[in-house]
Amino acid sequence: MNDHPRHTFFCAFSHPQAKLVEMANVRVRFAPSPTGYLHVGGARTALYNWLFARRHGGVFILRIEDTDVDRSKAELVTAILEGLTWLGLTWDEGPIHQSERLARYRELGARLEQSGHAYPCFCTSDELEQRRAAAQAERRAWKYDGACRNLPEAERARLRAAGRPAALRFRVPETGETAFDDEVFDRVALRNSEIEDYVLLRSDGNPTYHLSVVADDLDLGITHVIRGADHLSNTPKQVLMYRALGAPTPAFAHLPLILGPDRQRLSKRHGATAVGAYREQGVLPEALGNFLALLGWTPPGGKEILPIEEMIQGFDLKAVSKSNAVFDLEKLAWMNAEYLRALPPGRLLGLVEEELRAVGLAGQAGARDEGETFAARVSLLQSRARTLKDFSGSFRAFFSDQFDYDPEAKQKYWKEPALGGLLAELAARLADVEPFTPADCEKCLRGLAEEKSLKAGLLINAARVALTGQAVAPGLFDVMAVLGPKRVVARLRHSASFFANA
Ligand code: GLU
Repeated sequence: MNDHPRHTFFCAFSHPQAKLVEMANVRVRFAPSPTGYLHVGGARTALYNWLFARRHGGVFILRIEDTDVDRSKAELVTAILEGLTWLGLTWDEGPIHQSERLARYRELGARLEQSGHAYPCFCTSDELEQRRAAAQAERRAWKYDGACRNLPEAERARLRAAGRPAALRFRVPETGETAFDDEVFDRVALRNSEIEDYVLLRSDGNPTYHLSVVADDLDLGITHVIRGADHLSNTPKQVLMYRALGAPTPAFAHLPLILGPDRQRLSKRHGATAVGAYREQGVLPEALGNFLALLGWTPPGGKEILPIEEMIQGFDLKAVSKSNAVFDLEKLAWMNAEYLRALPPGRLLGLVEEELRAVGLAGQAGARDEGETFAARVSLLQSRARTLKDFSGSFRAFFSDQFDYDPEAKQKYWKEPALGGLLAELAARLADVEPFTPADCEKCLRGLAEEKSLKAGLLINAARVALTGQAVAPGLFDVMAVLGPKRVVARLRHSASFFANA
């Protein structure tokens, strides 16, 4: 995982005239904070960055924003890297850890202070809280009131000498506006009077998100900042900082928010939000990737299922919508089934084995004992699977002799007491069928039904429950052939014992 060479930082703003926004040199980044698992929204952001980099032959950088030491966790970093790798979103540089760059942030802070773009703020959090509460009581909107903005130098020196800790705040111009062109949201402008003098460095010397993000995007030569629309309102602050540093701003592209079906912001209330949870539910990475790609982007021609190469070819930030995207689990389920159906057999076999191993079925009789029929069983089930979990769930009887009869299936198809004797008789006759092909099995069952003057369907449905535990399964005679004579006979005999007068 960590075999990428560490990036050598270069100081982009030492060449302020450098034209960064050149498609030939695209450099983008995904910058998760390891305070949670890889969220589907984060994965969508990573995917768009990755697609953009691959589309333009650029570089995709992974940066871990772990300056919040209390909330950042090493195991979450591991989970994020695993999630990205599983989705195939390989990075070209990094992971770069912000926690290793603190000295650099402090240096930049000092530089902004020296140039007058930042000033020390000695207000304590208690003082700030009191003033905020007073503003609230008077129904005034609160933003930092600039108490320390124009302290005389002598006063600053006095407070420092007295050991008063100081944060560093950015000096936002009092008039005018800060605007930028967003690739998705077009022109975005904010009056400077609405932007507070925000903190760059906390009094403990740790940087805020704004300082570290601008420092890193500059040092890494990021050309396009592609991230969630929740950062749209942060961008003017960052643009002001680029300007204060005399550095060109990167291009910005903010991605629409992801909502649940009730149009509220996607949260755990709507179901799983972690990429890892979808993996555990048996979703294929290519299906999840395709699904996430469509959360905000309309591919050329409006095609819904498209292989990764086509996504790369067609990806265009201009085709990303401003409108919020809705996370539709039904659509993901449909897409996953489509991908499963189209999976090359070799890959599907490996995934099914992995799934069986994960639930402890891999070594069981049935899973692998008749090597060549394992592939036949998987192939028979392929078009019916909605997730990989089906192979250990509703298809369990194909891979293990320990399976339950679905109570509803039993109730529906094992009603007739006479069926017990018939299933036992069917077992006896099938024991002599040779070769054990679907056609021969069918002939045998239909012959028995005819002799007993009953509808073959009755016997077929009862036998299906006996062999698979389910009311719905692939064609019964194909099922018999892939299970093989020994197992079919044993299961039919066993089922007969459930009938009173067998
Ligand atoms: N760490 C930030 C986040 O997870 C990154 C924001 C950015 O891309 O600038 O939201």
